[in-house]
Amino acid sequence: MPKHVVVIGGGLAGLSCAYEMAKAGLNVTVLEREDRVGGMATSWSEGDVATAGEPGTDYYCWDFGPHRFHTKDKELIRHVEEIIGDNKVPAKRLSRIFMRGKFFDYPLSLKNVLRNMPLWKIAWILLDYSWTRLLDVTRLKKFDESHFQGWVHKRFGKTLSDMFFVEYTEKAWGIPATEISSDWASQRITLLNLRDTIIKTLRKPGGKNTPRTLVTDFIYPRTGGIGELARGYERRIKEMGGRVLAGSPAIKIHRNGNTVTKIEFRKKGGGSEFVTGDEYISTIPVTAMAKSVVPPAPQDVAKAIRSLDYVAIVFVYLKVRKPQVSPDNWVYLPQKHLTVHRISEFKNFSKCCAPPDKTLICAEITCRVGDDIWKADVDALRKIAVRDLCEVGLLKEDEVEDAFTKRIPFAYPVYDLDYERHLKKTMAFVHSLENIKSGGRQGLFRYNNMDQSIEMGRLMAEALASGSAIDHESVATERELFEYGEIGTSDDDLPAPAPAQEEK
Ligand SMILES: Cc1cc2nc3c(=O)[nH]c(=O)nc-3n(C[C@H](O)[C@H](O)[C@H](O)COP(=O)(O)OP(=O)(O)OC[C@H]3O[C@@H](n4cnc5c(N)ncnc54)[C@H](O)[C@@H]3O)c2cc1C
Repeated sequence: MPKHVVVIGGGLAGLSCAYEMAKAGLNVTVLEREDRVGGMATSWSEGDVATAGEPGTDYYCWDFGPHRFHTKDKELIRHVEEIIGDNKVPAKRLSRIFMRGKFFDYPLSLKNVLRNMPLWKIAWILLDYSWTRLLDVTRLKKFDESHFQGWVHKRFGKTLSDMFFVEYTEKAWGIPATEISSDWASQRITLLNLRDTIIKTLRKPGGKNTPRTLVTDFIYPRTGGIGELARGYERRIKEMGGRVLAGSPAIKIHRNGNTVTKIEFRKKGGGSEFVTGDEYISTIPVTAMAKSVVPPAPQDVAKAIRSLDYVAIVFVYLKVRKPQVSPDNWVYLPQKHLTVHRISEFKNFSKCCAPPDKTLICAEITCRVGDDIWKADVDALRKIAVRDLCEVGLLKEDEVEDAFTKRIPFAYPVYDLDYERHLKKTMAFVHSLENIKSGGRQGLFRYNNMDQSIEMGRLMAEALASGSAIDHESVATERELFEYGEIGTSDDDLPAPAPAQEEK
């Protein structure tokens, strides 16, 4: 009898893992909380897909904000193309930052910066940076590098840091930059300092050493949104005899000592059921996973788990009566007086995502579960999004035809000054369980992208199928270029299922 592996979580990490295991001849069951697979990389659509992109069509599709699949790994590109099949379009990244009344190209281009910024400001940035370097080299000032603000001030000078990094980060996280761990900066900013930034800005992206976040070409499904990838995995897993149980949240992970014995999950129609495997994979938030273990973790571990926190996101979707709002895939709005922190336009990923004469945009607002933004209804959120977009000149109020919203309660893991201590304790408990691996973005409390979640899923599968000790946790530990919008991850806690909500 082939091994039976139970995978908790049907996002890209769980699905890619289950797919590779099924291919290797293992018996797999995937438990997914929501009624659709894909996790943060899921999509929705309405209307007749057969007419997508044609005049008069009523077809729309949308994701949780912008989702661009990008990697420099040719084998992974081939793998993803195999999963999506022919339903794909080549896409090119275009993204900008709107700041102080101007649009800056992102990634930054020197020509564009020189055009948009007054000369006195550029001179001040350079002066401030030189002064900072002098203070640092001569040790006249000791920068506190334990927090984000100190880390960027030391490397870029106060003026540039506050303008490009600090304001946006504080807005997106909702906490002062002095309370955010510098781990986050060092993981996300490949740029060493201002000098390095200028050199990289002068280089044309696309070369061998281009950071992966700057790769401009990417693959996107022609119809169906990024969720086509998850649906492709689901279809193939089922074709190979595997089970994918959507709408089936795991509620308890039972153990005997350090061995997981069975998973209890809620059945679609009510009540609960057990599923037993030889091995287990969890790709749900590691906090939720650790909390659901019975008998429970010791008190000190439970306390550490409770100390790990998340930021939430509210997504406000606006149907607009004009063909295009901007040519960008997404636009960052770092300034604090604007509530929205990023907008994306799905038609710029694939023109089939909305009718030719209309467009659908998504405005993201970070918040905390239970705060005013979280509790705001669709009319209030529509007002905020429209106000901000009118202010930056992208929209007129009467162009908005309709609005709806979605929410992710635990969207970005918070790397506060103590997170590492709490995470270490939580992970030590998870690692003490012998026959379950926790992986993916949620499973490791990381900031990784789709390609890295897929890579982790595939490595976990390879390790189980071959019985070897492959380390999936080493994926996504390299440093990234500071990626404005992508500050985190999303999910919900066990046991309460909280589907992404939608209002009309
Ligand atoms: C706004 C935003 C924009 C992003 N943009 C990009 C981008 O442009 N490019 C990119 O590469 N990446 C992007 N990402 C990151 C990308 O979405 C993730 O890296 C990837 O989807 C993570 O996959 P995962 O399987 O690791 O986690 P998830 O997608 O979170 O999957 C976890 C799954 O577990 C399920 N689950 C939770 N609890 C339970 C339970 N109790 N029982 C059963 N199932 C459960 C969830 O429903 C979910 O399906 C973005 C993320 C966000 C939030």
